[in-house]
Amino acid sequence: MNSTPNLQPDSFEARKYNRAKRWAEVCDLIVGFGLLITLLLNHGSARLRDLAYNASRQNYSLALFLFVLMLLVVSKVVTLPLDYYAFRLEHKYKLSNQKISGWVWDEVKGWLVGLVLITILVEVLYATMRAYPDEWWIIVWVVFIGFSVLLAQLAPVVLFPIFYRFEPLRNDGLRERLVRLSERAGTRVRGVYEWKISEKSKKANAALTGLGKTRRILVADTLLNNYTDDEIEAVLAHELGHHVHGHIAKGMLLQVGITFVGFFAASHILRWAVDQRQMFQSVSDFANLPLLALIAAVLGLVLAPVLNAYSRYNERQADQYAWKSIVSVDPFISSMHKLASQNLAEENPSRWIEVLFHSHPSIGKRTAAAAAWRAKQQPAV
Ligand SMILES: [Zn+2]
Repeated sequence: MNSTPNLQPDSFEARKYNRAKRWAEVCDLIVGFGLLITLLLNHGSARLRDLAYNASRQNYSLALFLFVLMLLVVSKVVTLPLDYYAFRLEHKYKLSNQKISGWVWDEVKGWLVGLVLITILVEVLYATMRAYPDEWWIIVWVVFIGFSVLLAQLAPVVLFPIFYRFEPLRNDGLRERLVRLSERAGTRVRGVYEWKISEKSKKANAALTGLGKTRRILVADTLLNNYTDDEIEAVLAHELGHHVHGHIAKGMLLQVGITFVGFFAASHILRWAVDQRQMFQSVSDFANLPLLALIAAVLGLVLAPVLNAYSRYNERQADQYAWKSIVSVDPFISSMHKLASQNLAEENPSRWIEVLFHSHPSIGKRTAAAAAWRAKQQPAV
């Protein structure tokens, strides 16, 4: 895309807010890496394993659960100050109306959901490692894919409602417009839901989620209440663009490839750590869990710019679909500016910030591209 964004400088407030948020993210990353490395280098992991074994009276599965529990407690305690800072930051910039009690409750729920999901995965992982010390990684990879598909399908109906309320979109006119939009695209959307964000945040958002029967478009009530029908239609058309281009399925396919490489690398690194370095008693010695988490974190960090670039490509595709399916791109452009100011987003971040942190092209680029597309459709007389 060659269109040059109209480089209006962002407000001082927007820049300050985004800079603080990015620093919090970077600190969170550093603290996470620091914790994993400390556990591995100071035998902390081995000590926690022994503690778990003694407490469970040498029952492997129970010891593994206690080990995971202790790790998650330690990591929550270590990252809590940063989580609280992020919560305060939203209030400081008047982007949140969530009370502290609500925030604490959300943190507890999030931690419990994490505990349940991680426990299931880790128990399967180490049971497989015990049974197949050499081929575990390929078996776990297959299980992992199945688990991801299941989770993608269940998330909108099981996970999201733990944190937010959803209601079918009540605006009949809008729903009809969307049905017409999707029919014209030769596709059918299973449902459009109003996402009750306003109870917690003042920000607005929309998303396409789910797989198969749970596939749905979610639109924040904060968006539905403050935007014109034309603007909401533009946002919905963008989400429909993700649907038409099969972005969820493509993303999962990419995940399949990445996790294959990840598990393959993990099996070799683990073998080396056990055989060459005697860091662990065996492959299925779960004191090596922080090492596996570290491998996953490094892979995630290295791939982040690539995955962000891929995501921005998908976003541009969805945008182009939206422009084609609505009568005029003007409401698309105005909705983008509104979203930026409502979410205190930077319309024109620096290039490297975009590469490292952003899964969406900047609002400046998106609106400039839309304007360029409009100019091409209506050549100047
Ligand atoms: Zn999108």
